[in-house]
Amino acid sequence: MAFRPDTGCGWQYTVKKMDNFAITIIGAGIVGLATAARLAPKLAGKLLLVERHESFGRETSSRNSEVIHAGIYYPENSLKARLCVSGSRQIYQICQKNNIAHRRLGKLIVATSTAEEASLNDLFEQGRRNGAANLKLLNAAQSHALEPQVKAQAALFSPDSGIVDSHKLLRFFYHQAKNNGATIAFHAEITRITPRQPGFQLDCSGPAPENYNFNSDIVINCAGLDAARLSRSAGFTTPNIHYAKGSYFSYNGKSPLAHLVYPAPPPRGHGLGIHATIDLGGRLRFGPDLKYCDQPDYQVDATHQSQFTAAIKRYLPTLDTRRLTPDMAGIRPRLQGPDDPFSDFIIRNEIQAPGFINLLGIESPGLTAAPAIAAEIARMLNL
Ligand SMILES: Cc1cc2nc3c(=O)[nH]c(=O)nc-3n(C[C@H](O)[C@H](O)[C@H](O)COP(=O)(O)OP(=O)(O)OC[C@H]3O[C@@H](n4cnc5c(N)ncnc54)[C@H](O)[C@@H]3O)c2cc1C
Repeated sequence: MAFRPDTGCGWQYTVKKMDNFAITIIGAGIVGLATAARLAPKLAGKLLLVERHESFGRETSSRNSEVIHAGIYYPENSLKARLCVSGSRQIYQICQKNNIAHRRLGKLIVATSTAEEASLNDLFEQGRRNGAANLKLLNAAQSHALEPQVKAQAALFSPDSGIVDSHKLLRFFYHQAKNNGATIAFHAEITRITPRQPGFQLDCSGPAPENYNFNSDIVINCAGLDAARLSRSAGFTTPNIHYAKGSYFSYNGKSPLAHLVYPAPPPRGHGLGIHATIDLGGRLRFGPDLKYCDQPDYQVDATHQSQFTAAIKRYLPTLDTRRLTPDMAGIRPRLQGPDDPFSDFIIRNEIQAPGFINLLGIESPGLTAAPAIAAEIARMLNL
């Protein structure tokens, strides 16, 4: 049984039936790749990373805002807070050292009502407790001086929030893993996992028509939208993962903004609100909104433009919203249902079958947190 060649790099690997790996990572998104890059130097060629698509980063990791978050939004001591703050520092260091395009643009979270102003104070305190650096509360005049087009009666300024070229970051981790001896197999979909005491059997569907299986002492489930299904296939009690779609509209024209601009977040943590992000090419985009759906679907519904317009006009009243066009969508794997309170990432070594590291609900700030998640997994495995 042959896994397909690694597209673009001329590499090929053949997994033989009953091959045995020390560690198998499922999923070549940012989390699986960062984890493979972290662990590969310790494993002398016994690490396998499997991915169902033809290359890495084809799902959530390439469908997001590419924002390096500072760690403001998440409750103190949550994994999201801790891993975001640590991940953000690591991402800036990695980008600087390895020439990966990024910009520390700074972000304004703006209040357009007195109630929102109070919520900014809470965010400021929470961000400081989490370790988000250099936060400042601004009055209307200070906010206006930074962003003259933005209507705000107060703002929270986070100078250390920024943007990163997520594709270059994915590619960096991919090469780090590969150069340190990881085997990376594309077009390989894990269909079922069976605990074997010791280790695990993984059933895999490769390029049609063959199906086969192999063994691994340790399994790290970084399968994003498919992680809960795989966890259940291994017999673990697994919470529901909701698919929460986020769509973007892009702005056709020169950006009137120099910073990332976010509204005060909606109550109950349902997304961060429709915000303005600028990519490394200077293109302005708005989104993501949040709509729960039954199945991943990446179509952007053009009829949502009026909802985007209403949300944007609250903090950017002069924007010519006729210049908005539907852009792309991503899907969050969310543990939090529509009426639920905050839910954290789940990263755990399953007690029933130690050696199965389950990652569930890795939504935002998963891109920012990825190197810190990798370090957390290494710590759990004493590697
Ligand atoms: C709209 C949106 C905006 C966001 N904005 C930000 C942001 O600005 N900043 C930030 O920090 N975070 C952001 N996030 C969150 C961030 O994008 C994710 O947390 C992160 O990309 C998750 O990475 P991952 O590797 O866990 O998942 P994924 O990227 O989904 O990777 C999982 C991989 O597993 C593979 N896979 C799945 N099942 C199998 C199987 N059975 N066999 C083999 N392979 C399999 C998939 O093909 C996929 O490649 C955003 C998310 C969304 C949806």
